[in-house]
Amino acid sequence: MKCKKCEKKSVMANLGYCENHFIDYFEKTVYDTIKKYCLIAKNDKIVVAVSGGKDSISVLSILNKKYENVTALAIDEGINNYRDKTLVDLKRFCKTNNIRLKIISFKKEFKKSLDAILKENPKEHPCTVCGVLRRYLLNKHSHSFDVIVTGHNLDDEAQTIMMNLLKGQPDLLARLGPRTGLLTSKKFTKRVKPLYFLTEKEVRAYSFLKKFGISFNECPYMHDSYRGEVQVQINVLENRNPGTKINIIKNHLKVLPSIKKRYTVSKEINYCKVCKEPSSQSVCNRCNLLFRLKLLDF
Ligand code: SF4
Ligand code: ZN
Repeated sequence: MKCKKCEKKSVMANLGYCENHFIDYFEKTVYDTIKKYCLIAKNDKIVVAVSGGKDSISVLSILNKKYENVTALAIDEGINNYRDKTLVDLKRFCKTNNIRLKIISFKKEFKKSLDAILKENPKEHPCTVCGVLRRYLLNKHSHSFDVIVTGHNLDDEAQTIMMNLLKGQPDLLARLGPRTGLLTSKKFTKRVKPLYFLTEKEVRAYSFLKKFGISFNECPYMHDSYRGEVQVQINVLENRNPGTKINIIKNHLKVLPSIKKRYTVSKEINYCKVCKEPSSQSVCNRCNLLFRLKLLDF
């Protein structure tokens, strides 16, 4: 199959572009998304939440070419045989490209790695513990930046939309979109997703063609997750009915303004009485979780 734009061979049958035109298409989609949804301003202090995987390294690399003030921030949860490997790739990438890298670890912040916490609390769901603590650290260490960029792609967003629909959580649906969140507070740094319209497959192809040299590892806890289950089902639907994923996204974007309005009006910003970070309850999820895990007393 030929490239849509020239005579060269297309890199992957369903992408329809040769290597150079695919890279152009990919980067243009990122810049167009940033422009259309006003995700980043020219002089913003940008922090990219990085894991060392293909998504975060791709977005970091693209933003670092165009913006002056880019820092990479990695959270080391302490997942043996996974995060240690992705951090090696990340450190090498940042060193080669002269990007500032900040690494914050669960072990230093909470005195225990995620593996150790889960070993002592086998009934806790890995992704719940990981997600709550990681979000908290990301927010805590991003106060001095204007914008937090994450590497969420179209597949991630389609999964999150379906998970929230299936669990009946419309307030969580209202927080999605290229620009995340509902509440505005000086304590919340704006969060954005420039890879919003690019599929997992496209990000994989881009990182491969750009020779980022990263290993495609999966978190060992991924298979226990509800997200993993939803991911498998959406992929089955996409294979049988191409366009399923983008339709989920497009439909969500159509209804998003009205659900945002509905849930923003009814929400007030409260602050957790323990850690003083913004929270919808009197004690935030992180503090409740740390208390349950016996990592905090109050
Ligand atoms: Fe954390 Fe779950 Fe993601 Fe693993 S799969 S990094 S445990 S959220
Ligand atoms: Zn708290």
